[in-house]
Amino acid sequence: MTSNHELFDRARQLMPGGVNSPVRAFKSVGGEPFFTARADGPYLWDVEGRRYIDYVGSWGPMIVGHNHVHVRSAVARAIENGLSFGTPCPAEVTMAETITRLLPAVEMVRMVNSGTEATMAAIRLARGFTGRSKIVKFEGCYHGHGDAFLVKAGSGALTFGVPTSPGVPAGLADLTLTLPYNDLAAAQALFAEHGRDIAGLIIEPVAGNMNCIPPRPGYLQGLRELCTQHGALLIFDEVMTGFRVALGGAQALYGITPDLSTFGKIIGGGMPVGAYGGRREVMQQIAPAGPVYQAGTLSGNPVAMAAGLAMLELIQTPGFYAEIERKTRLLTDGLRAMAVEAGVAMTTNQVCGMFGIFFTDQTVETFAQATACDTALFNRFFHGMLKRGVYLAPSAFEAGFLSSAHDDDVIAETLRAAREALREARQA
Ligand code: PMP
Repeated sequence: MTSNHELFDRARQLMPGGVNSPVRAFKSVGGEPFFTARADGPYLWDVEGRRYIDYVGSWGPMIVGHNHVHVRSAVARAIENGLSFGTPCPAEVTMAETITRLLPAVEMVRMVNSGTEATMAAIRLARGFTGRSKIVKFEGCYHGHGDAFLVKAGSGALTFGVPTSPGVPAGLADLTLTLPYNDLAAAQALFAEHGRDIAGLIIEPVAGNMNCIPPRPGYLQGLRELCTQHGALLIFDEVMTGFRVALGGAQALYGITPDLSTFGKIIGGGMPVGAYGGRREVMQQIAPAGPVYQAGTLSGNPVAMAAGLAMLELIQTPGFYAEIERKTRLLTDGLRAMAVEAGVAMTTNQVCGMFGIFFTDQTVETFAQATACDTALFNRFFHGMLKRGVYLAPSAFEAGFLSSAHDDDVIAETLRAAREALREARQA
């Protein structure tokens, strides 16, 4: 039998850090990652046959659980007809119709292959549409690895302490203005100074790459007003929140109409898919309708579209989101109760099926508060949970995700593990 350790050893010889995406390497929590052999429902199994309850869900897409039969059969049917055509295919049209029906602010859409592609294209479009060059992002927000976004970025960039990456030319980084998340006065001040140069403001409407931080009441509305007032485009990066915090994403949940939105994860049903879309007059600037160039050999791939469409069918089941919210609440309430019992200072944030665990006694509403939490305690807790068969995101700065396949028994099992892991983590 191949072991996790042996695979990681081989991987490290040939792949930077042994992985194809940094956070997977467990660098911040310590130890070595496990290698997944298969996944089903709420579970992952590693190559050594160990089972884990999974709260990462492939970093968000697996909202109906792993290997769902409806998605799998749709993919199997699509494969019968070929893997890639390089011509338009019917499923792309159905996908565009579905997305625009579920999100009224998205009047036109373009499919791409990842969240990174979606956000890169969205800011190019914002720049092309407005004729301005500056963009605004928020400290601790992550929008993929496009050069313009690797300035005070969250997620892996934050976890590894390189929030601004070498290789991003200063001339480009200078065009990215950064703001503290959840601070409207700071945004007002920035727009007062730079408003006429700002092409767009991009935000995770619920921050999910500095752990999970919901917007303060009125905050997103305030940003909407600022952008309108200064002629900048408001871009909601809903790669994580789209089809996750509500069927219509964060824009539906908070009742805000962004000019552009970006998507990924869930719309691909586990296949590599992203999308961006928004106001018709803005989207009409994209080639070949307009002059702003963006393209993709595999974009709108028939197999990926089939997976995504099957997923979008499942999440439209009445009561789907209410049930995920209830179960996530069961988990977060339970975790806090276990922390009290263990004498550990811990708070949680939750927006529907997205949650965050913070080792602090404060309610976390800002990046500064998130980074001030006890990460050493988180790391011990992470390993305590892993040892007991529960896989949390391997970083204190990532949100957790629940799927519809996590039932009450799975959550009860998680809480039993947490009771022990919290006691152990505190004592260390
Ligand atoms: N935007 C957000 C909000 C994300 O969370 C991520 C990935 N976690 C991305 C963009 C980039 O997506 P991808 O990894 O598919 O390129």
